[in-house]
Amino acid sequence: MQNILDKIGEIAEKEKIKVYLVGGPVRDFIMKNEIKDIDICVEGNGISFAKILKKYFNCGLKTYSEFNTATLFLAHFSIDIATSRKETYPYPTSLPVVENGDIFTDLARRDFTINSIALSLDKKRGFIDPFSGRDDIKKGLVRVLHKKSFIDDPTRIFRAIRFKQRFDFRLEKETKKLLKQSIRIINKLSPERIRTEIMLLLKEQKKEEIFSQLYKLGVLDIIKLKPPQPGVSTSLFALIDPDKMPDFLTKSERQIAQGILKISLKEDLLKKAEKPSQIYQILFGIPEESLVFRMNQKPVIKGKIKEFLNVYNKVKLEITGRDLEKLGIKKGPIYKELLTKTLLAKLDGKIKGKQVHLVEEEINFVKTLLIHFFLDIR
Ligand code: ATP
Repeated sequence: MQNILDKIGEIAEKEKIKVYLVGGPVRDFIMKNEIKDIDICVEGNGISFAKILKKYFNCGLKTYSEFNTATLFLAHFSIDIATSRKETYPYPTSLPVVENGDIFTDLARRDFTINSIALSLDKKRGFIDPFSGRDDIKKGLVRVLHKKSFIDDPTRIFRAIRFKQRFDFRLEKETKKLLKQSIRIINKLSPERIRTEIMLLLKEQKKEEIFSQLYKLGVLDIIKLKPPQPGVSTSLFALIDPDKMPDFLTKSERQIAQGILKISLKEDLLKKAEKPSQIYQILFGIPEESLVFRMNQKPVIKGKIKEFLNVYNKVKLEITGRDLEKLGIKKGPIYKELLTKTLLAKLDGKIKGKQVHLVEEEINFVKTLLIHFFLDIR
């Protein structure tokens, strides 16, 4: 990586372009943490510079002309290249208005002092640190650049807690006050933006601590999530209360959350259920993700859910509606009833026989059912 940065610096000098390593990688470099991705900021035109680098490294390139940014894909990592810019927020939580700027305006648009340091990639390799981010790294402080920071962009509330917990830092006193004052504004963020932040938090190692802290601050209540439960590993579904579904969930996540609730409501019934057909009837139709989630969370019902997933849910009938038609049964809701009853009987081992005879056995069972129906009707 060092070689690549040297090379980028060399090319930039030759082209007379000012290029900087910025944000996360500079912070991680100073903290001696592993650097995951390279973020480069170019004073001038990021895309043109990315094209020059593409030729040199002979690698993949994707450009985003609307943002004046590009990504280079090298063998083991990627390099994001942006054009230095200035951002202003016309109103709180709006997306920023972007204009060209230099490295200073680019650093000034950022979230915290620890993320607002640049390292020039020319031979001098100097830090540009207008907000004393290096001091804050030393002191272990997360500090905003200005008073309106959280109001302009409340996603920074999530980011502040994320970095604080990740690095075991503290919120600087004034920052903490400003953060607490801005919490209500989270309401104004779109569900998509909240979702992005939640997904990033869930990737963090100390996610339990992060969500506990967000709970204490009142953030979880606003976005309709529960606090993490002690002893339960924190996944998205462990934080969802199906009675107050968060707005940022996808349709399938909603269904999974509802499935988890269904299993909880039927837990006592499931504990008592003995026959495979009883277990099947309780759990059929619930999404597999809900079943797996509950299975890992509740040892008492784990065995039954496992049996359902591995065995009962895979049992299928040999016969279909066609066979019922052939028996001369008039089409209607009775088809579903007959097939379901036959399947339940099969689950309980009431329909046995060699594979070649199974169709016959199932048809025989349907016939006995029909006799019962007939007798009932009479
Ligand atoms: P991570 O290690 O989690 O990737 P990062 O600092 O690289 O941390 P990114 O989300 O990749 O974080 O953002 C890159 C940089 O862009 C940040 O370091 C910060 O300077 C800036 N940035 C990101 N999000 C915001 C924001 N909401 N407001 C202001 N600046 C931001």
